[in-house]
Amino acid sequence: MLAVYAARVGGDDPLANLEVGDRPAPEPEPGWAVVRVRAASLNHHDLWTLRGVSSATITPPQILGCDGAGTVEGYGGAPPTGGGPEPGTRVVVYPVVTCGRCAACLSDEPMACRSFRMLSEPPLAGAFAERVAIPAANLIPVPEHVGFNEAACLPTAYLTAYRALFIRAGLRPGMTVLVHGATGGVATACILLARLAGITVYATSGDDDKRRFAVDLGAEAAFPVARETARDLIAATDGVGVDAVIDSVGEPTWELSLRAVRPGGVVVVPGATGGRNPPAQLNRIFFRSVTIAGTTMGTRGELRRLVDLVATGALRPLIGSTHTMRDARPAFTEMLHGELRGKIVLTLE
Ligand SMILES: [Zn+2]
Repeated sequence: MLAVYAARVGGDDPLANLEVGDRPAPEPEPGWAVVRVRAASLNHHDLWTLRGVSSATITPPQILGCDGAGTVEGYGGAPPTGGGPEPGTRVVVYPVVTCGRCAACLSDEPMACRSFRMLSEPPLAGAFAERVAIPAANLIPVPEHVGFNEAACLPTAYLTAYRALFIRAGLRPGMTVLVHGATGGVATACILLARLAGITVYATSGDDDKRRFAVDLGAEAAFPVARETARDLIAATDGVGVDAVIDSVGEPTWELSLRAVRPGGVVVVPGATGGRNPPAQLNRIFFRSVTIAGTTMGTRGELRRLVDLVATGALRPLIGSTHTMRDARPAFTEMLHGELRGKIVLTLE
């Protein structure tokens, strides 16, 4: 089957490790399903995999892709206990695979499971392929009128944004949030979801065009990443500071995050695309009672809620570009160079 995979990992250029070609189709274990993929979407996670950075040792070739949507083709062995969607059902794949038995899994905090794996992390093959295998419990049905392209945006970027905003930061209507990186997948998801919930969003970007883009998308204002921006944000929030910051960048933005958040506020960290070791500035954290909250992905229930938001027309995931899976290389180039405006989708006929 056609697949997009890491033929090697490491080195200076992640794109040099990228191949598009033929890989064996998955053979599902009992209780697992095979999904015929119709659309998939890129995440920074795919670039980390090409660099060789993963929760488990990568042994190439490794099929990439955390996010996929398509139709159920069948199951391994007998149909799963409790049944599963009929073959042919349109689904989006919940990409988190855990043990299903530990205290974290049983209390619906699967991200805290010791055996947490994302689709495309060994031993799991990813969704950038004609077919992907996944535990049957990870199939989330998608209504007929929700497009595969839109559905494929939800599992990583939108799920991460949803949990960061509403669960980890505890944001509610009328509150304020600062989102760094105005145009990436998670940032655009944060802007759209926060606006939908009646939260005032401020964005940052080093680029004029990208700041305008964030405002067009619904941000109240967008600022450069600079020391004066903290002062502007405090002024914009009646001298208080923002209730929460979503900082998935890290080194370039950390100081601004700690300066702009209000005393008692929350800085949520869903990633570190700009470097993982900023000066901690612990003085600002303890003296102003700031909470630092890490976050990864979200639950099945939260992904179902996102599908519902798209199904009712309340949410339309922002897709910046689409490419066929066979022509995946330019999609990866866009992501690597930060040229994206929202999600990048790969399609299969
Ligand atoms: Zn577990």
